[in-house]
Amino acid sequence: MQKSIERIAGDSDGTTYEFPVLRFGGTDKAAPSAYLQAALHAGELPGVVAIDALMPMLAKAESEGRIKGAMTVVPWANPIGRAQYHFGEHQGRFHLGTRTNFNRGFPLLAAPDTALLPDTTLGTADQRLKTRLVELSLGHDIVLDLHCDDEGLAYLYIHTSLWPAMADCAAAMGVDAVVLWSEDTDGTFEGAAIMPYQNVPAEVARFDRRAATTVEYRGILDVDGALAGADAEGLYRLLVARGVIADPALPAPGGFAGAVVPLENIDMMPAPRAGAILYDVKPGDRVESGARLATIVHAPGEADGRTEVFAPQAGLILTRRSRRIIRAGDDLLKLAGDRKSEDARSGTLED
Ligand SMILES: [Zn+2]
Repeated sequence: MQKSIERIAGDSDGTTYEFPVLRFGGTDKAAPSAYLQAALHAGELPGVVAIDALMPMLAKAESEGRIKGAMTVVPWANPIGRAQYHFGEHQGRFHLGTRTNFNRGFPLLAAPDTALLPDTTLGTADQRLKTRLVELSLGHDIVLDLHCDDEGLAYLYIHTSLWPAMADCAAAMGVDAVVLWSEDTDGTFEGAAIMPYQNVPAEVARFDRRAATTVEYRGILDVDGALAGADAEGLYRLLVARGVIADPALPAPGGFAGAVVPLENIDMMPAPRAGAILYDVKPGDRVESGARLATIVHAPGEADGRTEVFAPQAGLILTRRSRRIIRAGDDLLKLAGDRKSEDARSGTLED
């Protein structure tokens, strides 16, 4: 394994951001290659500790000559967000300088060619970081972007062009659900990893071996040794299933038994009032249409001081908020419905 340090120029003289890149060469040029990154939203750490738990497994495989495909691992993908504290609270989702989500505004290239990347010399630091992350990841057959939700199940976002071909990956990782999306107008990192392959010759696109996904490793508080170990085993099983690592002792993953939900089916449930949330449901619960999901206490102790929120359709509770204070219009939870949502906002990528 080789470690190098990436440097991203800051927005003023005297400021530079750094992050480490870990690389494994791979012994077989024909084997699929893999790129893993974590903490693009800089405070989302389940993926960081999963990579930490995965590294000894990779080191053992390397010492035994079993790493076939080249691997690039970026455990801390966002040094800009990592350094952002505002009044003592960490702010890792948006770049404070531009108010842009760190997982938006990636260049969506027409082909997998780094020569097409924009020149960000005169852009902002977050744009330079995004361009560099695309440059580091482009060309790998497997691209995994490790995130987490607020409180949630383990689930994957996968582009429809890769489904059901990636069912083996979902099974290997042992996630609870897969959310299928088809349009990226905002430039997510996952979009930057898969859209360049949509209109190129089949021998370049190689959809038989391609994988790209945003991995949501449960909730932001689920940074835990046992979960990290289990997630590392899931990542390892995926790398073996896809031929990046050889491990004949490991059985092939079976079929994927979790929920598969089109993005259009997700109901985000905006809060009708601002207040304190009393949830009736938690991630993993199955609800029927009309079931009460939460009560917002907006005028404590007063008549009509509570407002209830009901499920618009039957489905699976995928996520909810970790904090219990909410503004009117903010989303209460993600309900993975059995049918298309009637909420006009549904269908947009949410990480
Ligand atoms: Zn995220």
